[in-house]
Amino acid sequence: MSTILQTDIKFVPGVGPKRAEILNKEIDVFTIEDLLRWYPYRYIDRSRLYYIHEIDGSMPYIQLKGRITAFESFGEGRKRRLVAHFTDGTGFVDLVWFQGIRYIENKYKPNTEYIVFGRPTLFNNRWNIAHPEIDPYINEADRPVGLVAMYNTTEKMKSHYLNSRAMQKIIESAFGMIRERLPDSLSSDVVQAAHLIPFHDAIENIHFPKNPLLLRDAEYRLKFEELFYIQLSIVRYAADRKSKLNGFVFKRVGKNLNTFYKKYLPFELTNAQKRVIKEIRRDMGSGKQMNRLLQGDVGSGKTLVALMSMLIAIDNGFQTCLMAPTEILASQHFATFSELLADMDVNVALLTGSTKKKERESILEELQTGKIDILIGTHALIEDVVQFQNLGFVVIDEQHRFGVVQRAKLWKKNDHPPHVLVMTATPIPRTLAMTVYGDLDVSVIDELPPGRKPVKTIHRYDTKRGALHAFLRDQIHAGRQVYVVFPLIEENENLDLRSLEEGYQHIKESFPEFTVCKMHGRMKPAEKDEVMRRFLANEVQILVSTTVIEVGVNVPNASVMVIESAQRFGLAQLHQLRGRVGRGADQSYCILITPYELSADTRKRIEIMTETNDGFLIAEADLKLRGPGDLEGTQQSGIPFNLKISDIVRDSDILFRAREIAEEIIANDPNLEQSEHLVLRQQLNRLSGNRYDWGRIS
Ligand code: ADP
Ligand code: MG
Repeated sequence: MSTILQTDIKFVPGVGPKRAEILNKEIDVFTIEDLLRWYPYRYIDRSRLYYIHEIDGSMPYIQLKGRITAFESFGEGRKRRLVAHFTDGTGFVDLVWFQGIRYIENKYKPNTEYIVFGRPTLFNNRWNIAHPEIDPYINEADRPVGLVAMYNTTEKMKSHYLNSRAMQKIIESAFGMIRERLPDSLSSDVVQAAHLIPFHDAIENIHFPKNPLLLRDAEYRLKFEELFYIQLSIVRYAADRKSKLNGFVFKRVGKNLNTFYKKYLPFELTNAQKRVIKEIRRDMGSGKQMNRLLQGDVGSGKTLVALMSMLIAIDNGFQTCLMAPTEILASQHFATFSELLADMDVNVALLTGSTKKKERESILEELQTGKIDILIGTHALIEDVVQFQNLGFVVIDEQHRFGVVQRAKLWKKNDHPPHVLVMTATPIPRTLAMTVYGDLDVSVIDELPPGRKPVKTIHRYDTKRGALHAFLRDQIHAGRQVYVVFPLIEENENLDLRSLEEGYQHIKESFPEFTVCKMHGRMKPAEKDEVMRRFLANEVQILVSTTVIEVGVNVPNASVMVIESAQRFGLAQLHQLRGRVGRGADQSYCILITPYELSADTRKRIEIMTETNDGFLIAEADLKLRGPGDLEGTQQSGIPFNLKISDIVRDSDILFRAREIAEEIIANDPNLEQSEHLVLRQQLNRLSGNRYDWGRIS
């Protein structure tokens, strides 16, 4: 590793100890390498002069040549504002200052030719440039030309005069300290395979682009490198784990699975279900521990896949468990399993936080003696007191609710880690899956059971309730049931509970002929179960609820989902909620209620919902609208999304290529022992030591 790169930034001309400290604290920049990797966020073309009459709203920064006709000052004291009227003969702009006014007044003179550089904004129908950069116009040759880098800075940095321009100067002097070409940060086989320019040239051109083509190559190279090391780390970890962890071998095709398949399977499996069960069987028989992510849109029939996979484990003499994120969902799974397996010799038990002490004790004992074959439950399953005789297979439903640590705890319940199937209905775009769950094998159910009609999604303003009520009435008379969902977020809990209560009262009054119930997270589990039971039995026609029904709940006769204040939900959540209907043979509806005034982003979200039912499209759109950091699941994944230059949505092509090359490298040299791969190992250690712990993902 080059020593110059590891030099402390305080030795860079123009930095010194004081500024170094600010850069350390504010942006984590300690060494020259950190500084050189503080990439610009954009470039401005300073080779071009614009005319004032050309200005339009889409220009981030522009450069003008002209003269100040007059100064004008407004306000008093701290509210003082100085305006210079500036013209180039094609129009006028106002240059505006709020600080340093006296200095400006003295420095710049009317009727002198200047180059003005800044961001134009429209204010009171006039173009304004606040705090522009102004240079005297000397001649064409002295003007800065070409692309100039712009750097992100914090408020604190700015208050110490470390603005974008200062950063540019500092980076320039740091680069000036480099006497020899920088050694490459990737091995030459990778550089060749990906057709990259050398590291030295990339760093030079990212900060001081010689031309747009070289800038593009520099960006590509640095993005590739960033994504490559993440992938290399994931691929290496996965390969390592696969080589070390032996899994239980489930070889036997047994009686339980056969009996179930022949006698009790309630319907023909979809092709996608068959394919996934085959993939799981192959894993379980392979001798390696299975770690599989099963993605399937809401209603695609993941539960049945889980059940049949569990029967394979049971046929081979092992116990299994299924962990769900809520009590409602756990009880519902328990009911489904008990019903489907009623006439078979398989013991199913339910363990949740509200299981009574006595029952709990007997369950715990039967687990240890091996009497229980399938244990269904919530977080309660993770507790240390829950000990199995021989746990061979773990299913985790609706995975995004579980953290990494919780999953790891389940593994430890046997001396060999059990096979793991993680099921999620939050479709994860492939790019994100590769980054977040990169070491899990992925199965996809991409087909809904036959006979489902796509849910019709409609947007209505909250001022038009009459028509909505008439529609709900028609549906209920036709035998259907209705969900009405209100948002509830913790910060706003009391207010939200009140609007739920008001909404509930209002609906009760509007529909005196039907039974209306409400449900929310503050109710006792037993109360919630009772409400769900009555709704399932169609004793209740309208269920007014918070998002506690969001995941997993299955009431096929419910055909209308009304979402109040839909503007307050994210796309993933809206899609989950919509997935509660459309589960039976009837045409179902999702009605999104919002106020009339909506932000552009919200309108876009609502539009996407009304246009598509495809969970993967929605997840992609969500990722684009919100960015990966906010996406459900990423926080819990434990991965910081502090990518410096790449973007896993926009740069997906680079990501896929980086993955391929990382796989080739690890296939040939699993421990990166070849001498040319030394640099890869060093970089990997540096990255995982500093910021990421990419290895410990699942
Ligand atoms: P999810 O994938 O959202 O967990 P579920 O497993 O709850 O979906 O299945 C949704 C509904 O579809 C359930 O009522 C289930 O019984 C039904 N179902 C599952 N597989 C099939 C199939 N192959 N044919 C018909 N209905 C099915
Ligand atoms: Mg489910």
